[in-house]
Amino acid sequence: SPSASGPFTVVLLGDVGVGKTALASIFAGAADSMESDSDLYGCEMFEQSMLVDGESARVTLLDMWDSQDGASWRQGRALQDGDAYIVVYSITDRTSFLRASELRIQLRRERQAHRTPIILVGNKCDLVRRREVSVNEGRACAMVFDCKFIETSAAMQHNVWPLFEGVVRQLRLRRDSA
Ligand code: GDP
Repeated sequence: SPSASGPFTVVLLGDVGVGKTALASIFAGAADSMESDSDLYGCEMFEQSMLVDGESARVTLLDMWDSQDGASWRQGRALQDGDAYIVVYSITDRTSFLRASELRIQLRRERQAHRTPIILVGNKCDLVRRREVSVNEGRACAMVFDCKFIETSAAMQHNVWPLFEGVVRQLRLRRDSA
Protein backbone atom coordinates (compact mmCIF):
# COMPACT_ATOMS: atom_id res chain seq x y z
CA SER A 1 0.00 0.00 0.00
CA PRO A 2 1.23 3.56 -0.62
CA SER A 3 1.14 4.40 3.08
CA ALA A 4 3.76 1.74 3.78
CA SER A 5 6.23 3.07 1.20
CA GLY A 6 7.46 6.07 3.14
CA PRO A 7 9.25 8.41 2.93
CA PHE A 8 10.58 7.31 6.29
CA THR A 9 12.94 9.37 8.39
CA VAL A 10 15.55 7.20 10.08
CA VAL A 11 17.95 8.74 12.61
CA LEU A 12 21.44 7.43 13.42
CA LEU A 13 22.51 8.05 17.02
CA GLY A 14 25.54 7.02 19.07
CA ASP A 15 28.85 8.05 20.56
CA VAL A 16 31.56 9.72 18.48
CA GLY A 17 33.71 7.18 16.65
CA VAL A 18 31.33 4.21 16.68
CA GLY A 19 30.92 4.26 12.89
CA LYS A 20 27.78 6.28 12.19
CA THR A 21 29.40 8.11 9.28
CA ALA A 22 30.78 4.86 7.90
CA LEU A 23 27.32 3.25 8.02
CA ALA A 24 25.73 6.34 6.49
CA SER A 25 28.22 6.39 3.60
CA ILE A 26 27.33 2.83 2.70
CA PHE A 27 23.67 3.79 2.75
CA ALA A 28 24.46 6.94 0.78
CA GLY A 29 26.27 5.03 -1.96
CA ALA A 30 24.24 6.35 -4.85
CA ALA A 31 22.03 8.63 -2.76
CA ASP A 32 21.86 12.38 -3.00
CA SER A 33 23.16 14.31 -0.06
CA MET A 34 20.45 16.81 0.82
CA GLU A 35 22.75 19.70 1.68
CA SER A 36 20.02 22.30 1.92
CA ASP A 37 18.12 20.46 4.62
CA SER A 38 21.19 19.39 6.56
CA ASP A 39 21.54 22.56 8.65
CA LEU A 40 18.06 22.22 10.06
CA TYR A 41 19.05 19.18 12.11
CA GLY A 42 22.79 19.66 12.47
CA CYS A 43 23.46 16.46 10.63
CA GLU A 44 24.08 14.88 7.28
CA MET A 45 20.94 13.79 5.39
CA PHE A 46 20.70 11.17 2.67
CA GLU A 47 17.70 10.00 0.73
CA GLN A 48 17.57 6.60 -0.88
CA SER A 49 15.06 4.31 -2.55
CA MET A 50 15.24 0.79 -1.21
CA LEU A 51 13.64 -2.36 -2.57
CA VAL A 52 12.65 -4.50 0.41
CA ASP A 53 10.60 -7.70 0.01
CA GLY A 54 9.71 -6.67 -3.53
CA GLU A 55 8.31 -3.33 -2.43
CA SER A 56 10.10 -0.02 -2.71
CA ALA A 57 10.51 2.39 0.18
CA ARG A 58 11.99 5.86 0.34
CA VAL A 59 14.23 6.39 3.31
CA THR A 60 15.81 9.61 4.54
CA LEU A 61 18.77 8.86 6.79
CA LEU A 62 19.94 11.47 9.31
CA ASP A 63 23.49 11.09 10.59
CA MET A 64 23.61 13.16 13.78
CA TRP A 65 27.03 14.64 14.36
CA ASP A 66 26.27 16.27 17.68
CA SER A 67 24.58 13.43 19.49
CA GLN A 68 27.13 13.94 22.29
CA ASP A 69 25.23 16.99 23.42
CA GLY A 70 21.88 15.68 24.54
CA ALA A 71 20.61 19.13 25.40
CA SER A 72 20.96 20.66 21.96
CA TRP A 73 17.74 21.70 20.28
CA ARG A 74 18.79 19.93 17.12
CA GLN A 75 18.98 16.60 18.83
CA GLY A 76 15.73 17.36 20.56
CA ARG A 77 14.18 17.85 17.15
CA ALA A 78 15.67 14.71 15.71
CA LEU A 79 14.47 12.78 18.75
CA GLN A 80 10.96 13.89 17.92
CA ASP A 81 10.95 13.70 14.13
CA GLY A 82 12.37 10.25 13.47
CA ASP A 83 10.14 7.42 12.28
CA ALA A 84 12.82 4.97 13.43
CA TYR A 85 16.13 5.13 15.31
CA ILE A 86 19.38 3.28 14.84
CA VAL A 87 21.37 3.45 18.09
CA VAL A 88 24.98 2.50 17.38
CA TYR A 89 27.79 1.46 19.71
CA SER A 90 31.17 -0.08 18.96
CA ILE A 91 31.77 -3.64 20.20
CA THR A 92 35.33 -2.45 20.97
CA ASP A 93 34.20 0.33 23.29
CA ARG A 94 32.20 -0.36 26.43
CA THR A 95 31.66 3.34 27.08
CA SER A 96 29.82 3.64 23.77
CA PHE A 97 27.65 0.68 24.82
CA LEU A 98 26.68 2.49 28.04
CA ARG A 99 26.01 5.62 26.00
CA ALA A 100 23.69 3.60 23.75
CA SER A 101 21.68 2.57 26.81
CA GLU A 102 21.38 6.20 27.86
CA LEU A 103 20.20 7.16 24.39
CA ARG A 104 17.65 4.37 24.48
CA ILE A 105 16.28 5.68 27.79
CA GLN A 106 16.20 9.20 26.41
CA LEU A 107 14.34 8.00 23.32
CA ARG A 108 11.81 6.10 25.38
CA ARG A 109 11.13 9.27 27.35
CA GLU A 110 10.61 11.34 24.19
CA ARG A 111 8.82 8.75 22.10
CA GLN A 112 6.81 6.72 24.57
CA ALA A 113 3.46 6.89 22.86
CA HIS A 114 4.69 6.33 19.34
CA ARG A 115 5.86 2.71 19.21
CA THR A 116 8.81 3.95 17.22
CA PRO A 117 11.10 1.18 15.97
CA ILE A 118 14.55 1.29 17.55
CA ILE A 119 17.41 -0.90 16.44
CA LEU A 120 20.47 -1.40 18.63
CA VAL A 121 23.59 -1.86 16.51
CA GLY A 122 26.93 -3.25 17.65
CA ASN A 123 29.30 -2.01 14.95
CA LYS A 124 32.95 -2.93 14.22
CA CYS A 125 32.27 -6.66 14.67
CA ASP A 126 35.29 -7.28 12.41
CA LEU A 127 37.58 -6.21 15.29
CA VAL A 128 37.24 -9.52 17.12
CA ARG A 129 40.38 -9.20 19.22
CA ARG A 130 39.39 -5.80 20.54
CA ARG A 131 35.88 -6.85 21.53
CA GLU A 132 34.74 -5.39 24.87
CA VAL A 133 31.01 -6.08 24.53
CA SER A 134 29.85 -9.64 23.88
CA VAL A 135 27.07 -10.55 21.45
CA ASN A 136 25.04 -11.81 24.40
CA GLU A 137 25.36 -8.51 26.24
CA GLY A 138 24.17 -6.66 23.16
CA ARG A 139 21.26 -9.04 22.71
CA ALA A 140 20.30 -8.85 26.39
CA CYS A 141 20.42 -5.07 26.36
CA ALA A 142 18.15 -4.99 23.30
CA MET A 143 15.73 -7.33 25.03
CA VAL A 144 15.60 -5.16 28.15
CA PHE A 145 15.02 -2.08 26.04
CA ASP A 146 12.55 -3.81 23.75
CA CYS A 147 14.35 -3.19 20.50
CA LYS A 148 15.88 -5.19 17.66
CA PHE A 149 19.58 -6.01 17.66
CA ILE A 150 22.19 -6.60 15.00
CA GLU A 151 25.98 -6.59 14.84
CA THR A 152 27.53 -4.93 11.80
CA SER A 153 30.87 -4.12 10.28
CA ALA A 154 30.85 -0.99 8.17
CA ALA A 155 34.49 -1.70 7.31
CA MET A 156 33.68 -5.16 5.91
CA GLN A 157 30.22 -4.07 4.68
CA HIS A 158 28.82 -6.91 6.79
CA ASN A 159 25.13 -6.81 7.81
CA VAL A 160 24.79 -3.14 6.81
CA TRP A 161 22.04 -3.59 4.21
CA PRO A 162 20.28 -6.21 6.33
CA LEU A 163 20.24 -3.51 9.04
CA PHE A 164 18.57 -0.91 6.80
CA GLU A 165 16.18 -3.49 5.35
CA GLY A 166 15.26 -4.56 8.87
CA VAL A 167 14.43 -0.95 9.71
CA VAL A 168 12.06 -0.73 6.73
CA ARG A 169 10.38 -3.99 7.76
CA GLN A 170 9.88 -2.67 11.28
CA LEU A 171 8.38 0.55 9.92
CA ARG A 172 5.99 -1.38 7.69
CA LEU A 173 4.93 -3.64 10.55
CA ARG A 174 4.14 -0.60 12.64
CA ARG A 175 2.18 1.05 9.84
CA ASP A 176 0.28 -2.12 9.01
CA SER A 177 -0.78 -2.59 12.62
CA ALA A 178 -1.58 1.09 13.23
P1 GDP B 1 31.17 8.36 13.85
O1 GDP B 1 31.88 9.38 14.69
O2 GDP B 1 30.18 7.58 14.63
O3 GDP B 1 30.56 8.95 12.61
O4 GDP B 1 32.28 7.30 13.40
P2 GDP B 1 33.02 7.16 11.98
O5 GDP B 1 32.10 6.59 10.96
O6 GDP B 1 33.67 8.46 11.66
O7 GDP B 1 34.11 6.04 12.32
C1 GDP B 1 35.13 6.27 13.29
C2 GDP B 1 36.34 5.41 12.93
O8 GDP B 1 36.02 4.03 13.01
C3 GDP B 1 36.83 5.64 11.50
O9 GDP B 1 38.22 5.57 11.51
C4 GDP B 1 36.23 4.47 10.74
O10 GDP B 1 37.02 4.12 9.63
C5 GDP B 1 36.24 3.37 11.78
N1 GDP B 1 35.18 2.39 11.56
C6 GDP B 1 33.85 2.64 11.37
N2 GDP B 1 33.17 1.49 11.24
C7 GDP B 1 34.07 0.48 11.36
C8 GDP B 1 33.97 -0.95 11.33
O11 GDP B 1 32.90 -1.56 11.15
N3 GDP B 1 35.14 -1.65 11.52
C9 GDP B 1 36.33 -1.02 11.70
N4 GDP B 1 37.41 -1.81 11.86
N5 GDP B 1 36.45 0.30 11.73
C10 GDP B 1 35.35 1.05 11.56
